Parts: sequence; C-alpha cells; structure tokens
Amino acid sequence: MNGNTNDDTVQLRAEFLRHDEPAGSEPKHLEHDVAVYKTLLESTRAIPWKIDWATMEFAYIGPQIEGVLGWAPSSWKTVQDWAARIHEEDREQVVNFCVSQSQAGCDHEADYRALTNDGGYVWIRDVVHVVRTPDGGVESLVGFMFDISERKKTEAKVRQLQRELEQLSFTDGLTGAGNRRMVDTVLQREWDDAARAGLPLSVVMTDIDFFKSYNDYYGHLQGDECLRRVAGVLKAALREGDFLGRFGGEEFVLVLPNTPADAAMRVAERCRNLILAENIPHERSPFRQTVTASFGVGTTVPTEQGTPTAFLNLVDTQLYAAKDNGRDCIAAVDASRQRTV
Ligand code: GH3
Ligand code: MG
Ligand code: MG
Repeated sequence: MNGNTNDDTVQLRAEFLRHDEPAGSEPKHLEHDVAVYKTLLESTRAIPWKIDWATMEFAYIGPQIEGVLGWAPSSWKTVQDWAARIHEEDREQVVNFCVSQSQAGCDHEADYRALTNDGGYVWIRDVVHVVRTPDGGVESLVGFMFDISERKKTEAKVRQLQRELEQLSFTDGLTGAGNRRMVDTVLQREWDDAARAGLPLSVVMTDIDFFKSYNDYYGHLQGDECLRRVAGVLKAALREGDFLGRFGGEEFVLVLPNTPADAAMRVAERCRNLILAENIPHERSPFRQTVTASFGVGTTVPTEQGTPTAFLNLVDTQLYAAKDNGRDCIAAVDASRQRTV
C-alpha cells in the first residue's frame, strides 16, 4: 500500500473526526467534504472510531456500534470502556498487544470477543492506525471495528471438518480401529520413542481362523459383523497407551509401548480368551464351532539399525507359526534379548 495515500486518508478522517469544533470554523467547501466523509463512514458496516492518546478517551465512535453490540455511542467514553467490554479470556492479551503496538507507533489489528449489552459476545476485528504528531509522538488512534462473527463461525466449522476428516482418514470405517495408515504412523512413532528411551516395544498380530469359510457360510454382511465384534473384544483387552489397528482383511495389530515379552504374552492370551468368551458361532470351524484367532507376538528394544517394517515381518512369521501349529494359539519371539531386529 502507498504510504502517502494512507496518510492522506488518515488526514481526511482526522478532519472529519474533529466534529466537535464550532461550526463555521472550517471553510465552506471543507465543511461540505466533512459531511460527505461522515456520511460515507457512517454508512459502512465497519465501525469507525478515534481515541485521543493523551486522555485515552473516545473522541468519536460511529453510530453503527449500537447496531452491532447494543451499546450507545455515548457509552464509549474511555479506553477502559473498550477494555471492559472485551471477553475476559481475550482481554489481557488484546489490551497488552494494542497498547504496546500503539506505543511503538505501529498500525495493528486484533480479534476479540466483544460483550453485547444483552450479555452475548460478537467477534470483532479491530484495525488500528496510529496517528502521529509531527515530532513522531502518538497523537491519536483511529480505526475500524468489523463484525467478523460469521467468518469466525465458518473458521470453526472448517476446523471441525478438518478434525473429522483427519479422524476418518486414520480410522477403519468398518471396525473403528486405526486403519493401515494409522498402524504405520503409530508404529513408527512408538519405535522412535522406544529407541530414544531404550524401552521394550511389543507388537501382537492376530488373524481370525477359517474366516473365508465363515464368510462362505454366513455371508459377507455377517462376516463384517463378526469383524466388528472381534475388534470390540480386542479393544477391551487394551491397556492405557496401547493401540489397535486393522492391518487388513481379518487381521489386526496391537502396538504395545513399554511392554516386555512376558506382559505382551499376557495381552495376547487375554485377547485369545476374550474372543473365545465372545462365543461367536462358526459352524464350519473345527474348534468347538466358534470363532477363534491365531496370534503372533514380538518384543524388541528398538535401535537405530532396526526398522519397524523388519520388526513387523518378524511378528508376522510368528503369526504364520501359530497358524502352522494348528491355529487358535499364540507364537512369540523375544528379540529384545538378542537386540538383533
Ligand atoms: P486362516 O485360518 O489361515 O487365516 O484362513 P482364513 O480363511 O481366515 O484366511 P483367508 O486368507 O483364506 O481368508 C480371509 C477371508 O477374509 C477372505 C475374505 O473374504 C475375508 N475378508 C477380508 N476382509 C473382509 C471384510 O472386510 N469383510 C468380510 N466380511 N470379509 C473379509
Ligand atoms: Mg484368517
Ligand atoms: Mg488373513
């Protein structure tokens, strides 16, 4: 923006703002101009105002203020009236910011919630220009208040949608467990944290047994319901800080931070028992005609050399071993002892 143009505008504003000077002290053409500018300013949706720096009193505030906040222009006497009508959560920060910027002679803007005379709040953006005396001191502040409630509402809605989208992009729609992307993110994060702290990290992989024949017999919709129930059971087995994700198909992963091998084994046993206790009928299963699952468990103390992917592959081999061992059982490896992962 051109600095001169800005100064000219401020000068014009300053002229009209000296509205309390006796009529007739201005040349006729200027009086006319002042009336034009006053009409213009008071017909905008923005609310013009002026504060004298020496007295900290309002020299002017546009009549539009009453329409927005309900307070009559005559009730805006001093800068204290302004500060008192700022939401208390915003007040200290906004007042400190505006005072320091003004003292430094810097134009600025601030967003805050302003109190209405019926006890509500309206989001205001105050855009402030510092008018200086010829010797550089602060003479007055002039500015515009804008009602930005609608914009703030839109911003809040966008933030909420962003959160929901983020949530969706990390959640498996069927079971509510973390999705594959979340598994990778969480595993990498826990790997890094454990490597830094030198703590054991365990992972449990579980796969529903004979699930193809479950689908064939009961149909895919009931297969989906079975997946939801199994995910619910696994969630119930989690401790604080543990994570459950759907790795794909009928396979789930539990990431267990700060968990040594014996504790990870207990988590897997709890999961297995809870699935059995859920007693989901599975006519085609050789195991008491109920749904069962196989488990692979791995524990490591992550190092700079190792990778989460290699560790996951190691756990996967345990899951294969459990399947080979007849299913409905657990196979585990404790790599934390050799620290070779
Ligand atoms: P195993 O005991 O060796 O694990 O045998 P399985 O039959 O469970 O394994 P297989 O890999 O042969 O079959 C997995 C089945 O899981 C096949 C597929 O139709 C089913 N499945 C994968 N994702 C879904 C899903 O989202 N919904 C449903 N209903 N079924 C799924
Ligand atoms: Mg399976
Ligand atoms: Mg599978």
